[in-house]
Amino acid sequence: MFETTLAGSLPKPSWLATPNVLWAPWTLTGQPLQEAKEDATALSIRRQEEAGIDIVSDGEQARQHFVHGFLAEVDGVDFDKKVRMGIRNNRYEADCPTVTSALKRRRFVHEKEARVARATTARKLKFTLPGPMTLIDTLADGHYGDRVKMAFAFAELLNQEAKDLEKLGVDVIQFDEPAFNVYLAETVEWGVPALEKATEGLKCTTAVHICYGYGIEANIKWKETLGESWRQYEQTFPALDRSRIQQVSLECRQSHVPPELMKLLKSKTVLVGAIDVASEKIETPEEVAATLKLATQFVDPERIQACTNCGMAPMTLNTAYAKLRALAQGAALARKVL
Ligand code: ZN
Repeated sequence: MFETTLAGSLPKPSWLATPNVLWAPWTLTGQPLQEAKEDATALSIRRQEEAGIDIVSDGEQARQHFVHGFLAEVDGVDFDKKVRMGIRNNRYEADCPTVTSALKRRRFVHEKEARVARATTARKLKFTLPGPMTLIDTLADGHYGDRVKMAFAFAELLNQEAKDLEKLGVDVIQFDEPAFNVYLAETVEWGVPALEKATEGLKCTTAVHICYGYGIEANIKWKETLGESWRQYEQTFPALDRSRIQQVSLECRQSHVPPELMKLLKSKTVLVGAIDVASEKIETPEEVAATLKLATQFVDPERIQACTNCGMAPMTLNTAYAKLRALAQGAALARKVL
């Protein structure tokens, strides 16, 4: 009951990348950069263990961004042909690389950091990948001429990567799909099927993370336009509940998501976001326990994991780990009380 985990990313030390920003530039280059990425991965896992996290992640220490980290090793994606475009339904602008030919994975993209992560911990290991819909929403298309076709082409590549990660001993593969909270009808129509394609044949645990984004300015402004009751999950959870994905990670703490929407996930493990990533204020264990207790009104406690609302990459290093400690203490407290 209430195993603890995190949505994925953690801040990087300043000897690896510029702190407190998304798309943080690397501090080093070449072999020293590779060594620093591996050291940061191992260190991040140790710090998660010390904080009391049960299902740890590589902290996404070896990638600059959760989408582009994977794309960097895909043939057919031209990073020299960047197009400034509105993404997540024009919520913000980003310089997106262009797909210029058929897609092919050059190699096992995350092999090095996954090996380091696996060798560092005996705990359950989670590894995150971008979901197909979110991937194509962060790219310009100069080849396929059909967004859905391009999403399924990526699903195939993600499936190869996921199978390699599984072979290395990764326990949970989580696909990040913030786009599922933006394109609701499309999510049901082809987003979930593309995600299932990405998980085809996997025997390890599969998860999907659906959030309202990192705690950055553009997202905070967007959230202000969503009104008092955020009901996006209401449209997509029934389709996810019918899917083969086993876990769903959602926002709860300091969000306007009506908690009763969790009821729609009848058969899934629910990763309840009990840590706000848009605030540097550290939750108390009591606050975490209260969020988990609230979730038990709608989901059997055995199906609940304590999680963060989203990744913590742009946060302050010490705040992020203090929040993870609070998460573990809050889960312990909730276990005792219930
Ligand atoms: Zn997120």
